[in-house]
Amino acid sequence: MGTGQHRVAVVTGASSGIGAATARRLAAEGFEVVLTARRTERIEELAKEIESQGGAARAITLDVTDRAAVDAFAAALGRIDVLVNNAGGAFGAESVEQGDPADWLAMYQVNVLGVLHMTQALLPGLRQSGDGTVLILSSTAALAAYEGGGGYVAAKHAAHTIAATLRLELVGEPIRVIEIAPGMVKSEGFAVTRFRGDEAKAAAVYQGVSQPLTSEDIADTVAWAITRPSHVNIDLLVVRPRAQA
Ligand code: NDP
Repeated sequence: MGTGQHRVAVVTGASSGIGAATARRLAAEGFEVVLTARRTERIEELAKEIESQGGAARAITLDVTDRAAVDAFAAALGRIDVLVNNAGGAFGAESVEQGDPADWLAMYQVNVLGVLHMTQALLPGLRQSGDGTVLILSSTAALAAYEGGGGYVAAKHAAHTIAATLRLELVGEPIRVIEIAPGMVKSEGFAVTRFRGDEAKAAAVYQGVSQPLTSEDIADTVAWAITRPSHVNIDLLVVRPRAQA
């Protein structure tokens, strides 16, 4: 349960991977973390874990692609200081020629419209904070194309331009806009979701990168960027494994 004494950070997609690691890390930094995702059991367990270690956490089930649900979440939230737009993913991983339009739509909905819904709904609260931060987890796929990246590359490029545009639109307001673009992260769910459990296909993409990043590597970066003095805006950080070209 929240105590009302902490700065409040909302993390989307906090049920696994980078989002879960970021939530743990921000709780350790003294934030009250609001854990959101569709898998209720996962975020409730994580909230309990954080509280058992002296942190403050709330778990609220939320699908970021559902605008009405996002609006209801925002209306009930109360204080917010940081929004970490982490929910996302790649589904299917095919060439442009072979990509399934249904996969493209699903990727657009979570990686682009999910960010839009959350950001629009929470900007009023972030303004009230007087020291707000919107953070977007994009990807190296947001900055360069790669073969087979297809719809994921397209969706993450859109997320990148949302971050850049929003930052310009908020110049002069007390809200920072930060983009973190990770390279390959061996997160809990990512390879499985992306390749629908096809280990051979996943291994082919991780080829040559014997040591991908961990979710904790990205959580560290997120925490560092957020905890800079409030007049310092870290626009964009690209974090990749040393072995990734
Ligand atoms: P995971 O698959 O482990 O985590 C994805 C998270 O997003 C889950 O918690 C999932 O929760 C949540 N999510 C998915 N769809 C929705 C939705 N509609 N509403 C709410 N939550 C949703 O992957 P990662 O931790 O690796 O990915 C986190 C972010 O980092 C993503 O944006 C991804 O694109 C990005 N990224 C990942 C990289 C990697 O190599 N792993 C590299 C670069 C960027 P639930 O299913 O419970 O809703």
